[in-house]
Amino acid sequence: METKIPVVILGATGSVGQKFVELLKDHPWFRIAALCASERSAGKQYKDAVNWFQSSELPEHIGQMIVQPCDATVMGRLAFSALDAAVAGSIEQAYAKAGYTVVSNSKNHRHHPDVPLLVPEINASHLELIQGQQFGEGKIITNPNCSTIGLVMALKPLVDAFGVREVSVVTMQALSGSGYPGVSSLDIVDNAVPYIGGEEEKMEKEPLKIFGDLINGHVEPAVMSISATCNRIAVVDGHMECVSVRLGRSANAQQIIEAWEDYRAEPQEMGLPMAPVQPVHYHREDNYPQPRKHRMLDKGMAVSIGRLRSCSILDWKFTLLSHNTIRGAAGGAILNAELMAEMGLL
Ligand code: NAP
Repeated sequence: METKIPVVILGATGSVGQKFVELLKDHPWFRIAALCASERSAGKQYKDAVNWFQSSELPEHIGQMIVQPCDATVMGRLAFSALDAAVAGSIEQAYAKAGYTVVSNSKNHRHHPDVPLLVPEINASHLELIQGQQFGEGKIITNPNCSTIGLVMALKPLVDAFGVREVSVVTMQALSGSGYPGVSSLDIVDNAVPYIGGEEEKMEKEPLKIFGDLINGHVEPAVMSISATCNRIAVVDGHMECVSVRLGRSANAQQIIEAWEDYRAEPQEMGLPMAPVQPVHYHREDNYPQPRKHRMLDKGMAVSIGRLRSCSILDWKFTLLSHNTIRGAAGGAILNAELMAEMGLL
């Protein structure tokens, strides 16, 4: 593409918003046109409004941009939303009404019947749903929750090859998943917290829409029982999940690992810039995957799996890891937009 598409980042000062800035600053197709946040930040230079905690340097020209309010007047046609869920619903609808395609990380529209809950490697066909949207000139597309994404990426090759009937998952989730400033240090240092509000419900519900069948313009939810337990731990980035599954038909360990390692879908075939070359990696070392070692695998967009072994209650169990603010948020949303651009939907 010769001319980059101007994009607006809503909630640009938060944990996910900063990751959008980091991933979009040199993007080959998209150019940051505006950074938007609350009235607390609007009017300030971005470097003064944000507490930049990414490991990369904030580019000077971006640091000098003036933060705008989220009033849907800034010119552009694509908006990435990393807004607090308390305000995302109405703001995202206002941007869609003004003609923007809104690619959102927030939970607000995920279960709207006309809004795709999109994972490009899994349900690109669900983009057909946007034809029925009535938000105005624009459209709304959503990402799953950051812990759902690792789970569905690991399950998809198994769903296709063997079927998946039951899933039990226990998460160990990173601090950046709770936004900025997030959990207070006195609550989490030397500690783990066995509760993340609303997270278990999201993990049990979202995969059913993602794996659902598109029938006559509607998604018929998949039939699968999922039980989730979510914990917060003192890791900065990268959610780990211990998963047990009952398959639809029997499979041996080699067949399961082959299904993971061979899995490819539209983003890989299209060569989308943000797409991982190999979406799912299986690690044969006994003590892998680990957040510090594997969260940045393939630009932070690949899911790492290890420790496949038989389960004495269900059929098989394993451990997975995915980067929550890249694959599970900003990177996933950018991949959604790249898919739409490649399909001529922007
Ligand atoms: P966060 O760090 O708390 O950031 C929230 C952003 O929303 C900030 O930029 C904030 O701007 C802005 N905001 C708050 N109130 C506003 C208002 N009234 N008007 C306009 N902007 C307002 O949260 P986060 O972790 O980045 O998460 C953002 C969204 O993504 C949430 O819906 C979250 O559930 C979802 N998500 C997060 C993750 C993750 O790993 N963190 C993963 C997937 C999805 P100010 O700085 O000006 O207050």
